Amino acid sequence: MEQPISVTRSNFNDWMVPVFAPANFIPVRGEGSRIWDQENKEYIDFAGGIAVNALGHAHPVAVNALTEQATKLWHVGNGYTNEPVLRLAKQLTEQTFADKVFFCNSGAEANEAALKLARKVGLDSGVAGKSGIVAFNNAFHGRTLFTVSAGGQPKYSQDFAPLPNGISHVAYNDLEAAKAVINEQTCAVIVEPVQGEGGVIPADIEFLKGLRALCDEFGALLIFDEVQTGVGRTGSLYAYMNYGVTPDVLTTAKALGGGFPVGAMLTTDKFAPHFSVGTHGTTYGGNPLASAVAGAVFEFINTPEVLEGVKHRHQYFLDALNTLNAEYQVFDEIRGQGLLIGCVLKAEYAGKAKDITTWAGEEGLLALIAGPNVVRFTPSLIIPEQDIDEGITRLKRALAKLAK
Ligand SMILES: *Cc1c(COP(=O)(O)O)cnc(C)c1O
Repeated sequence: MEQPISVTRSNFNDWMVPVFAPANFIPVRGEGSRIWDQENKEYIDFAGGIAVNALGHAHPVAVNALTEQATKLWHVGNGYTNEPVLRLAKQLTEQTFADKVFFCNSGAEANEAALKLARKVGLDSGVAGKSGIVAFNNAFHGRTLFTVSAGGQPKYSQDFAPLPNGISHVAYNDLEAAKAVINEQTCAVIVEPVQGEGGVIPADIEFLKGLRALCDEFGALLIFDEVQTGVGRTGSLYAYMNYGVTPDVLTTAKALGGGFPVGAMLTTDKFAPHFSVGTHGTTYGGNPLASAVAGAVFEFINTPEVLEGVKHRHQYFLDALNTLNAEYQVFDEIRGQGLLIGCVLKAEYAGKAKDITTWAGEEGLLALIAGPNVVRFTPSLIIPEQDIDEGITRLKRALAKLAK
């Protein structure tokens, strides 16, 4: 066989559109919560591919589902349905509030579908101008023009004006502010139960309950963006289950495929029919390959053992991080749910989150940021305790560099 083309990190700058600034090493293989780079240096993975690799790397359940389906059928197009997608739809509707599912390939696409559905429901209501969308400051909903406009970080959207209009933003966890902008013209409220990219900020229960009541009062769809919080990440199958507040639409992606691209928009029999034949679509959405992997990953995660394991690991992580912090005094607050954990830097270290993750990389640890002041961890949901211990030891060496 021919040798593969030899490539290095500097080739990224040669050939790739520079929207990312990746670390200066290239991961080449992974197993569980460890990965190795081109030099065979080992890393503990506390990043989990940004809350995606819920079963770690190369988990046999996912590998088997993928390879089995790979020999049968990859893609047929939406002129035909397929067995894996129907099985996955059965799982998702049986295990959640939803009655119907629309499949796509990413979180942004799931939110795009949710927002378009809300606009369509608003139109069909017959109420003039029922197209307003209420969203929250610092929210993140994806990078399509509609979803980046719904997101609450103008730095991601302002360069692409003119933006879709009719979207208002108010402060997260501020029910009074939301009340002031939700009215008869509102077709949807979109919210993350825990803001992920925005800094790992859990919603207050009263806030979500209040949004539910306002949506009921004004006939607006309550959309929960669970792209990051879904599929076991918070210790429940979906974060709405922690809150006991049920949305009308829920979007899920990231961990759903355990690393294989897949997304879904879940909704009820009340709203699904507004998306009639031809009103929305996708080429790859619900393809057999993605659906087979997602079905296996979902089934594996949705067990009491795995979900309890996430809660247990949450406490284990927090204890270890608090012990570290007692020594180094770098974090003001350590917060989050399940294995979505954010460490907020003290004011004197403001803006240093990226440096910490760079130093962590040097020490053999993959970690994330959530804005300039929050170090974020979203590891595999089944990360072994000894990998947590080893990762914390490496983090400790990175923090020692900061403290200097
Ligand atoms: C990652 C993320 C998205 C976007 O998902 P993509 O798959 O990158 O399009 C949307 N919403 C939330 C809450 C996310 O964390």
